[in-house]
Parts: sequence; C-alpha cells; structure tokens
Amino acid sequence: MTPSNLKPCPDCEQPISKLAAFCPHCGAPDLKQADERSKTRELEVVVTDIDMSLGNMIIFLLKWVAAVFVVLLIVGAVVFAVLVAFYGAGEALHLILNPVRRA
Ligand SMILES: [Zn+2]
Repeated sequence: MTPSNLKPCPDCEQPISKLAAFCPHCGAPDLKQADERSKTRELEVVVTDIDMSLGNMIIFLLKWVAAVFVVLLIVGAVVFAVLVAFYGAGEALHLILNPVRRA
C-alpha cells in the first residue's frame, strides 16, 4: 500500500485506503458516502427528517391503535368484572349480549 492510496479517515483521521469501504480503525462506514453526505448535508437532513416523521407517524399510529385496543380490552374486562360482581356471570352476559332488549 503506497501513501498515494491512503487518505485520512473523516472520523478518526487515521490513514486508510481510498478504496476502503469502511475505516479499519474506527469502523466509519462507506467513506465515499460520508463525503457525499458532508457536501449535501442540509438536503440530506431535510429528506431524512421527512422520512423520519413519516416512519414515526406510522409507528406512532400503530402504537396508538395497539394501545387503544389494549385499553378497550382492559376497560371491557373491568366493566365485565363489575357486571359479574353485581349481577352474576349469567346476567352480565345477558346485559352485554342483549343491551337493546334490556334498554
Ligand atoms: Zn476512522
């Protein structure tokens, strides 16, 4: 390896091969991509922000739906338990399965 084939790592500044896909010293990945990133940092940040918020929104919605589902299950279980406590299991099932007839 000749010095002309070496360049400083952008992360740790150790001499590494220009052809290296990642720095053997600190593990910084794909140095060509790192150079591109520093040139177009602002654009990349904006695009990354949009990607992040879209992904986060989907994850947030999924978590929200899951949370609501779990809460509804818990609330339903609690309501059912209360009904069972007050009316007994048979009457509670009757109340839940035939609410219109009851009303
Ligand atoms: Zn490095």
